[in-house]
Amino acid sequence: MNVRFLKNEYDVVVAGGGIAGISAAVKAGRLGAKVILIEQYGFVGGMSTAGMVSPFMKHSIKDEILVRGIFEELEKGMIKRKGMIDNGFYASAFRFAALELLRNARVDVLLNASIIKVNREKDRIKSLNILIHGYDIEIRGKVFIDTTGDAQLVYLGNFSYVKGDEKTGKLQALTLFFRMGGIDFVRALDYVKKHKEDFFSWMTFDFDLAKIISVAGYFSTVKKAIAQGRLSEDVNYIFYTTLPESGEASFNTSNILGLDGSTSSDLTKAEFIGREQVWQVVNLLRDDIPGFESSYLLETAIQVGVRETRRAIGDYVVQEEDITKFRKFDDAIARGCYGIDIHGQKDEESRLDEMPENDFYEVPLRALIVSDAKNLLVAGRCISATRKAHGALRIMPTSSATGEASGALAALAIKNNKSVREVNPTEVKRLILHNLSSRFSS
Ligand SMILES: Cc1cc2nc3c(=O)[nH]c(=O)nc-3n(C[C@H](O)[C@H](O)[C@H](O)COP(=O)(O)OP(=O)(O)OC[C@H]3O[C@@H](n4cnc5c(N)ncnc54)[C@H](O)[C@@H]3O)c2cc1C
Repeated sequence: MNVRFLKNEYDVVVAGGGIAGISAAVKAGRLGAKVILIEQYGFVGGMSTAGMVSPFMKHSIKDEILVRGIFEELEKGMIKRKGMIDNGFYASAFRFAALELLRNARVDVLLNASIIKVNREKDRIKSLNILIHGYDIEIRGKVFIDTTGDAQLVYLGNFSYVKGDEKTGKLQALTLFFRMGGIDFVRALDYVKKHKEDFFSWMTFDFDLAKIISVAGYFSTVKKAIAQGRLSEDVNYIFYTTLPESGEASFNTSNILGLDGSTSSDLTKAEFIGREQVWQVVNLLRDDIPGFESSYLLETAIQVGVRETRRAIGDYVVQEEDITKFRKFDDAIARGCYGIDIHGQKDEESRLDEMPENDFYEVPLRALIVSDAKNLLVAGRCISATRKAHGALRIMPTSSATGEASGALAALAIKNNKSVREVNPTEVKRLILHNLSSRFSS
């Protein structure tokens, strides 16, 4: 099959068009590399669009924003289209903003194309085979960036990875996002204020209706509904964020256990279970919860949200203590302040660490370089980290920052005709100072 715009060989091949892949491709493209971004869906965004995940998790301390650059440009593109308020956004706005950035960076974007094979020459990747409408075509490249979330290039290329918990292999719970409309927030939030004990203590109850509000709990309603057989016993609480002045809210509530989000058979099971849970929650809200009487289901995500599957093993594996002790690195390429957040299975503790407002951790460049490969980088959800550290690093702002750094590294390797390991980290840092410079910097 002849795809007219495809080049004979690319400098940088970015696999997977989620927020990490978009950031990587835009950065490398802007730095003059010939870049292709390959995505299996007919649109970009990954979890941010197909998974309908919103809002962007915490990425600032005191008055300092830790992730800027391409991430902020994405935000601005959504705000321009009135598709983002505070840190919450609509998937459609994300797609518009991302495509604009990719086009302006002259990235070749190839959609509806599934990567099915990685062709190696010793410890280098030579090319990928992709499936487009039944045709198998080969894409050759010099540097490859795996931003598939599931470390597909690492897996298909037989490089080193770990999946889930290092000891038990357990993976975080899956969640099918959904959005509802027709909610009377004045009544709904009045109920919440009067029943604070029925909600998480981390909530702030001085609601400003013009801003995004997070509500999580309704513990007694959930417990009662489970006892009555109206709700799956896997659902622990109801969690939504309001989309201001719209009567709409986005729900991160379904809790799908014991399945592996990197296999088609488990994702199929999850689709059935997730939709059943969503419908149960919608009915429960309408029947039992003040403010939701006239509400309705607007949409469910295109795919079940996957928090973790495989992570590459890199030259450095980010550790739990790097996060909890706010470690700094000479080769830092990204910063974060979000705590370890693990949605556990039935027989394991969930965890959500609260972090202080006055410090941040850093991510070293080495965590982006796949340890047993010469020309393969990773960014975003499949970065090299322990399961616990990954629980903090997996959020969208940090995924964008690691993506942007991987694009910078790849472009520098091409420009200077070096391998990714030969590039001086200081040169990479210079290209992403907006994500590093800080009065706290070591
Ligand atoms: C339920 C849930 C709730 C979350 N809540 C939040 C939150 O509130 N705030 C926050 O900031 N983060 C949250 N996250 C985390 C965040 O959404 C993700 O970790 C982040 O978006 C990952 O981005 P990524 O680009 O690394 O991967 P992804 O978004 O997963 O993108 C990977 C892309 O690669 C493509 N791909 C995969 N395999 C192939 C292949 N073989 N061929 C071609 N393309 C392929 C996929 O289609 C996808 O587009 C949540 C995640 C989940 C699942």
